Amino acid sequence: MKYCSIASGSNGNCYYVAKGDDAVLIDVGINRKHVELRMARAGIDPRSVKAIFITHEHTDHIRGLMVFSKRYQVPIYLTRGTYEGARLPLPSHLVHFIQPDDRIKVGELTVLGIPKYHDAKEPCSFVVTDGKVNISIMTDLGRGCDNVKHVIQHSDVLLLESNYDTEMLLSGPYPYYLKNRIRGGWGHLSNAEALQVFVENKTIQTETSDFGTPVWRKQYGGACKVCFPSSL
Ligand SMILES: [Zn+2]
Repeated sequence: MKYCSIASGSNGNCYYVAKGDDAVLIDVGINRKHVELRMARAGIDPRSVKAIFITHEHTDHIRGLMVFSKRYQVPIYLTRGTYEGARLPLPSHLVHFIQPDDRIKVGELTVLGIPKYHDAKEPCSFVVTDGKVNISIMTDLGRGCDNVKHVIQHSDVLLLESNYDTEMLLSGPYPYYLKNRIRGGWGHLSNAEALQVFVENKTIQTETSDFGTPVWRKQYGGACKVCFPSSL
């Protein structure tokens, strides 16, 4: 399995996961040209992308979606709510509607939808697995809910986004409504909340990604189990 954070943070999110000839993108939140430039730097051929999965409709997750998917004719998997919220004239032959807790096979990979709390119409996170290794992309989380805990417990590679320091947010320049939006359970996890939910549910080993975004890698003594009950 290969993983690359092509872009992360409020300027745009785009994550690449591959096994052999099968690759998927989670979100395309930077424009097509920048996706291609960053892929080239990482030695990734954009034509290897077999499917795009979209977590939700906020601009920093869909900015490059239309142009990239059209150029490479890549199928797009997203919930109806995300589609409606995105308001993009996506080519209908590329659009596939999913439930937020769906499992979709893409070659050797299976992509699992994980419903989440966030101020979007029908958002979900995604775990990509080959049946042995689980790679989890968990951004834009309003709460460290049971789904988040379950994913942390079963991830081998985990990207868990935290968004702010609570004291800095409260004393900072944002208007009151925006402060509440960010920390109100439907926005983002604070650094402290993310650390707490991670520490309480992690298994063994931690690393930090090259991109400054925390990525926590866990190792199991034996084979990794894929254990996502349908109730997720
Ligand atoms: Zn968002």
